[in-house]
Amino acid sequence: MSFHERIEAPARAFLEKKHQLLIDGKAVESRSGERLHIIDPGNGNVIATSAAGTAEDVDLAVAAARRAFEGDWAKVKPNQRARLMIRYAELIEAHGDELAQLESINSGKPLTFCRNADIPNVSEMFRYMAGWATKIEGTAPNVSLPGEWAAYTLREPVGVVGQILPWNFPLNLFSWKVAPALASGCTIVLKPAELTPLTALRMAELALEAGIPAGVLNIVTGCGNPVGAAISEHPGIDKVSFTGSTETGKKILHAATGNLKRVTLELGGKSPVIVFPDADLDAAAAGAARAIFFHAGQVCAAGSRLFAHEAIHDALVDRIAAIASKMKVGYGLDDDSDLGPVISQTQFDRVTGYLAAGQEQGAQVRVGGQRVGDSGYFIQPTILTGTKPGMSVVDEEIFGPVLSTMTFKDDDDLDSIAAQANASPYGLSASVWTRDVRIAHRLARRIKSGAVGVNVHSAADASLPYGGFKQSGWGRERGFDAIESYTEVKAITLNLN
Ligand code: NAD
Repeated sequence: MSFHERIEAPARAFLEKKHQLLIDGKAVESRSGERLHIIDPGNGNVIATSAAGTAEDVDLAVAAARRAFEGDWAKVKPNQRARLMIRYAELIEAHGDELAQLESINSGKPLTFCRNADIPNVSEMFRYMAGWATKIEGTAPNVSLPGEWAAYTLREPVGVVGQILPWNFPLNLFSWKVAPALASGCTIVLKPAELTPLTALRMAELALEAGIPAGVLNIVTGCGNPVGAAISEHPGIDKVSFTGSTETGKKILHAATGNLKRVTLELGGKSPVIVFPDADLDAAAAGAARAIFFHAGQVCAAGSRLFAHEAIHDALVDRIAAIASKMKVGYGLDDDSDLGPVISQTQFDRVTGYLAAGQEQGAQVRVGGQRVGDSGYFIQPTILTGTKPGMSVVDEEIFGPVLSTMTFKDDDDLDSIAAQANASPYGLSASVWTRDVRIAHRLARRIKSGAVGVNVHSAADASLPYGGFKQSGWGRERGFDAIESYTEVKAITLNLN
């Protein structure tokens, strides 16, 4: 059955539109006039095309964002911003099925996850950040200068922000970036990933429908070079927030030096899942399976390195393997799919390349390891045993459904367990599975990552700051930390003498 028969009229109508850039509230063609194919990763078919933006398009979007920042948007009071954002959240919910279908068909993620997790999480992010809009406050420092003084600080929006998204969570990451920027009073030039631009374009239409003024949220679709590169180096952009690979993050950092724009980077990961012998093994197995197989492992926080105490390693891996074997790998729009395809042929080749390299280096496939079907980019959930540091499957981010398992011996030696877990250039997320509260807290302090879950891997909540240590990034998204990152602090001092 073709996807046309599986999706409802609103998503179908949107797909069939000629997708353009959205600048100053208007749909416009890119200066290049060129189009990029948008692929359904479930079968490799072209489902739509998008406008291939240029650096000149970025100039126009920045000019529109600047006008809005200094004009209409600056006049909107914090409580009005909050109301607009709540209205936006309501519209997202009202269009939830349409957005979920577009997200599933473009990203391959099972529709059930898009509908039941992404849509509520996205609308919640706008509601949560709307709450902050009226609470972005300064302080009244108590200065010790001689004589009499008054002083206060203001927290002001940073200005025009550039936001660059990856393809793995197009809707969710749109909300992580756009919601705090709007709450803070910034205006935006956003570039979705070239592979998955559809939901960002639809979300931008809904923002206008919610009453967010033209020019506040501009979308320039297209490739990393030229569009992302132009955003990163643009002198009219005050901050760039990027989610994507560490390699691209470094390029963005270099490009941003021209005007020393503020930079937030959410980059890659190679997150450890550490299981102690006293853990509830069934819960740990289910958590470890979710940590690596959710969205076919294309998750920056994916728990891709399992460290289990040697006494329970085999029993634990048996349980994870049993879960993996029962998972239904299938088309995202099929109701019973647990695992969709990876995003593209390139990603498929990358993951299968790692599987081949791992086996050449001595890893054994405990379960999975094969392609599923002969069209689309489906890979079985895979567990590799006999893996160790030095192998590329252990050291490098695969971004696919591949778990490498390792053991530790002495469960009292938390320093050495932490050293194993920390032996990575990344530090995004980690989880510790134990019933011993002492181990949980002590190990959590020793792990070098932006998040540590105890008996959960990567809890997602709008209030929880998210970001990486080491080469997993700079700065934090979500929570008040995100608001801080879209604001500048100004100190105002009055000489009363
Ligand atoms: P990517 O770095 O290839 O691309 C991300 C975005 O950057 C895309 O929009 C791309 O067009 C753009 N881009 C590419 N070259 C650019 C350049 N020179 N200048 C500016 N922009 C450029 O990453 P990807 O393959 O889309 O996503 C996968 C990666 O993202 C993984 O490494 C993953 O770990 C990471 N990721 C991190 C998080 C997080 O929060 N830490 C979340 C999701 C994904």
